[in-house]
Amino acid sequence: MLSKKIYPAVYLLLIAIFLSLPILALAREQQETRLAAARESEGELGQQSTESKNQEIGPGAGKGQGQRQGLRQGQGQQRPANQQPLPTQNFFRFLFSSKLITMLVIGLVALVLLLTGKMDNRTRIPFLVVATFLYGVSANLGLKLFSGFSMHPSPICAITKPLLYGLRTPMLATLAVILFLTIIGPKLFCSYVCPVGAIQELIAMLADKLKIRRRKPSFRLSQTVRVLIFLAFIAFSWTAIIHTIYQGQVRALSLYDYINAFEGFKWNLQPTLLDNLFHFLPLILTLAFAFFTYRPYCYYVCPVGLFTNVLEQVAIFRVVKKKDGCNDCQVCVDRSPCPAVAEILKDAVLVPDCFSCTVCTRGCPRSQLKFGR
Ligand code: SF4
Ligand code: SF4
Repeated sequence: MLSKKIYPAVYLLLIAIFLSLPILALAREQQETRLAAARESEGELGQQSTESKNQEIGPGAGKGQGQRQGLRQGQGQQRPANQQPLPTQNFFRFLFSSKLITMLVIGLVALVLLLTGKMDNRTRIPFLVVATFLYGVSANLGLKLFSGFSMHPSPICAITKPLLYGLRTPMLATLAVILFLTIIGPKLFCSYVCPVGAIQELIAMLADKLKIRRRKPSFRLSQTVRVLIFLAFIAFSWTAIIHTIYQGQVRALSLYDYINAFEGFKWNLQPTLLDNLFHFLPLILTLAFAFFTYRPYCYYVCPVGLFTNVLEQVAIFRVVKKKDGCNDCQVCVDRSPCPAVAEILKDAVLVPDCFSCTVCTRGCPRSQLKFGR
């Protein structure tokens, strides 16, 4: 039982990571502020030397100076992107934004309902519809009420972009929410908040109503594919095999930019057919496959799924087997859509992703499974 003895250490490590996120964000903000100030003062010095040169030129210089001043004012309104001062963004402003705070509230309400046994399919549907609408659809409507719910940064960007471009405050705040909701409950972020997860879950319910037979994902296969995609992302990014040339510099592109189902929730049409294909196809394929297998994007592709699967092994609350009452009839395994239940019954160290669907806890004829510690 060595594996269980290391749990406190893992908890401490995760708490340390969680607490370090705001510190990292603050350090980043300070660095950005210093950089912006340095750029400002460099710009002012440059202006002063230009002005002194103009004064030396003599009559007629005033006109040119006026023109340049006008030009500078114009530049102040619309500077090129590379001269923009970096934004000093506040970690807690992002953390307490309407999007992230509602995510936390929804996740916590879901946890209470799971722990008190009040979560079932009828209760879940409103959660899933709200998550799909609020975090997937609403920002497209152009209403002020939903202006704070834009997709950026998507969960995938929050996990992968820091590896490409360094730690940025919106990514850190989103990561903190994903981390918190995964640690306290059974993948609460993926189960009740993520729009791609929610819409796959709704399609699974529809497929059941239509009596379409769904296959359970094979965890060995799905985990292998998910890990390989992540390793390919690292290899392509760090060697810049997939790249773009921006302002004369080679910039690595993320492999996930080409398979990001979250992008499909942005309804803006792209300039070319190929761009539209990259933009919408991952979500369309995800929706199509979700009729035939459980949460295909989460199990096979999503790096957040991979990340939260590691974390859920040490989550405080999850599906647990009660002691000594299970007669190993396997009814819960047969009824469940996921590959996790069989491993939970075996008390395995590495359990496949559980999305708190409650099928197994409600499906056990002897009520031997429950959400608990
Ligand atoms: S695994 Fe990815 S797509 Fe699935 S629910 Fe989690 S964040 Fe969303
Ligand atoms: S059937 Fe049980 S183990 Fe599988 S996802 Fe649903 S709640 Fe989790």
